[in-house]
Amino acid sequence: MNVATILKAKGSDVATVNPALTLAEAARLLTERGIGAVVVMEGRRVIGILSERDIVKAVARGGAEALKAPVRDVMTARVVTCSLNDSVDELMDAMTEGRFRHLPVVEDGELAGIVSIGDVVKHRIAETVMETEALRLYIATG
Ligand code: AMP
Repeated sequence: MNVATILKAKGSDVATVNPALTLAEAARLLTERGIGAVVVMEGRRVIGILSERDIVKAVARGGAEALKAPVRDVMTARVVTCSLNDSVDELMDAMTEGRFRHLPVVEDGELAGIVSIGDVVKHRIAETVMETEALRLYIATG
């Protein structure tokens, strides 16, 4: 199972924002869409990622005033991405190593989707259920 399989099930829609958007507006977008992160774009180029954790940290440091800051001041600019051929195991490794829960999918330099830890867990469980069922059948018919 790879990223292409995950995107086939969930679609390639990604919430993106302009780096000049305020944190308050970004927080509203995260809440309205029921998501945990947005990809920051300059034109068609990915220049950062902003997650709910970044907003919480900014508010902890600067109080409610921090919500007026632009996304570019708080986003993570070194974005780790994945590609359509990456396996679920590779995604799990990247998320564990980087200690984050979102991986934008970039293919031929273009943003092609986003995978969250929830998507990874869902597909890993489906994979495990399929393997267990195959083993059960093998034993039952062996
Ligand atoms: P998350 O666990 O995804 O809410 O993110 C935790 C921290 O990692 C935040 O500072 C995010 O900006 C950052 N982050 C999230 N996803 C990525 C990624 N794919 N590459 C680099 N940093 C990320």
